[in-house]
Amino acid sequence: MMCKQRKHGIISNIIFAIGWQFRVAPWYTLLYFLQMIVGDIITLFEHTFLVAYIIGCVERGGTLTEVLYFLVPVAVAVTIKVCVNPLIDSYITPKSSAKIKEAIHMKLYEKAASMEISRYDDSQFYNDFVWAMQKAPEHVTAATNTFRTLLSKLIVVAIAGSYIISTDALAVLVVAVIMVSTLLSQHIINQWKMKREEDILPVSRKRDYVNRVFYLADYVKDIKSSQISKKLEKDFGETSEQMRKLVKKHGPKISALTVLRDSVDYILYDGAYLTYLFYQALVQNKFGLGSLLALYKAANQLSGNLRRVIMMLPEFQNHSLYLAKLRTFLETENKMPDEGTLHTPETGDILLQDVHFTYPGNDRPTIKGVSMEIKKGEKIALVGFNGAGKSTLIKLLLRLYDPDSGSVHFAQQSIKEYPITDYRKRFGVLFQDFEMIATDIGHNLNMSNQVLDEQRADEVLKKVAFWERFQTMPQKYGTQLTKEFDEEGINLSGGEAQKIALARVLYADSGVIILDEPSSALDPIAEYQLNKTVTELAEDKTVIIISHRLSTTRFVDKIYMLENGRIIEQGNHESLLALKGKYAEMFTLQAEKYR
Ligand code: ATP
Repeated sequence: MMCKQRKHGIISNIIFAIGWQFRVAPWYTLLYFLQMIVGDIITLFEHTFLVAYIIGCVERGGTLTEVLYFLVPVAVAVTIKVCVNPLIDSYITPKSSAKIKEAIHMKLYEKAASMEISRYDDSQFYNDFVWAMQKAPEHVTAATNTFRTLLSKLIVVAIAGSYIISTDALAVLVVAVIMVSTLLSQHIINQWKMKREEDILPVSRKRDYVNRVFYLADYVKDIKSSQISKKLEKDFGETSEQMRKLVKKHGPKISALTVLRDSVDYILYDGAYLTYLFYQALVQNKFGLGSLLALYKAANQLSGNLRRVIMMLPEFQNHSLYLAKLRTFLETENKMPDEGTLHTPETGDILLQDVHFTYPGNDRPTIKGVSMEIKKGEKIALVGFNGAGKSTLIKLLLRLYDPDSGSVHFAQQSIKEYPITDYRKRFGVLFQDFEMIATDIGHNLNMSNQVLDEQRADEVLKKVAFWERFQTMPQKYGTQLTKEFDEEGINLSGGEAQKIALARVLYADSGVIILDEPSSALDPIAEYQLNKTVTELAEDKTVIIISHRLSTTRFVDKIYMLENGRIIEQGNHESLLALKGKYAEMFTLQAEKYR
């Protein structure tokens, strides 16, 4: 499934970035633009017009007061600039830019949390999503900065150009010739540099991958227990070699044209243009030395700033690329509309009617006409070989996906009639691939930012047989999980983590409990404890267990055996054994293993 990409043009993306920054920090954005524009104009006056004005005064025998009229305001402006800039650059900008990026991250997190799980199956969407999360926030501020630089440089160009035209119109022609040569060569250099970047990007992504594998903790065990590091080092060496070749391929022509451009610039500007100015001042007496100096400097500012503008243009393209991904992600419509309005009952019967489902991008269906009725308070088990479709059924039940056909009902209503978030709150789920969050145990139990009910948490930890281990933790519920941010933090074993994940489900106290492989990492005692806990819950809760260990499923009211997306056998443990079908075969095999 491909996500629909809306095209966003470069200009529209840059306006989007500036608009965003302005909405989050309007005063700062104004100050940010003014800082550069006013600063550049002050520099223009300081370096171009001030000295020219003073020489002009001296030439025509002006007074000191006349000099001071110009000198004092420029000196005051320069002093203010010198004092204010460090304040803006090292205090106001970092503070405001953090605020702007925070606003973008918050928006991204909000969107990511509300995004349907099926989006993660769309590789193009997922790639764009990762890029948006990692890179887009910095490009919002960087694009605004590039635009402010462009605006400021163009203002300086306009002032310097107007001055040259008003003083000696012909000089503009000479400057124009110089400009055309500079801009043309810079344009070609830009194109070559972009090509070089394009060629280097895939190679550098491979290098980044190798780099990541060496520093991410997830890979450390595989790296240490195998020889794969040698292969990765070899890959890194090869990509480095490829990069060197690419630099060698593009480098010489870029340097050659740069040298040519600078030499032509020098000859035209310091040779031809200066000669022309001297000729007009000394031979034609069209203007004095002050104006000569100002014209020379103004042309310098004009060409320097225009070149800067041309050099910056590819930056817009680069920012725009990331901003487009950010916008596409934020504008992505939820394909699973949350239109339910009915009040969601705490619990109720669950009914699946002839459910068919194919994963996006797959050509073959995973669920092929499953029907089942789970009465309120019933304990059921889904069993079957790997890939039979057990976890998929749970995803359909939780409305992480909608079936292609057939329906899912909860408390006599189609689950589409309930608001999704309310509906999902009715389920406490222990997923097969649950994750511990790098925060304290308390928050890992209540999985929210609310205050933990410690009494309930104590009971739950006892039920999942984690109480003794918990007693050894001096920080109790404040104990940090993982060492990611805290050296004192603890890394739980696989079984311990599974107990905490199970405790989460029990703490949530939902009407329906779903346990996907709850005992896969548990030792036999903990498994027994888990079975007991599940049985204890029998009073009022519906429990759905997916398990490969048939010792767990013996305790349930009804077992559904799935194969290849279909229910092939159903009944309680005894009746399924008596049937002597697939379940009985699986159970006998496991029982033999235990013996
Ligand atoms: P196991 O016992 O190994 O956990 P299961 O019975 O829970 O297996 P499911 O996880 O439901 O099986 O997977 C059923 C089939 O659907 C598998 O062939 C799997 O490859 C496929 N599948 C699962 N998730 C996705 C997905 N997100 N996109 C495409 N196919 C998927």
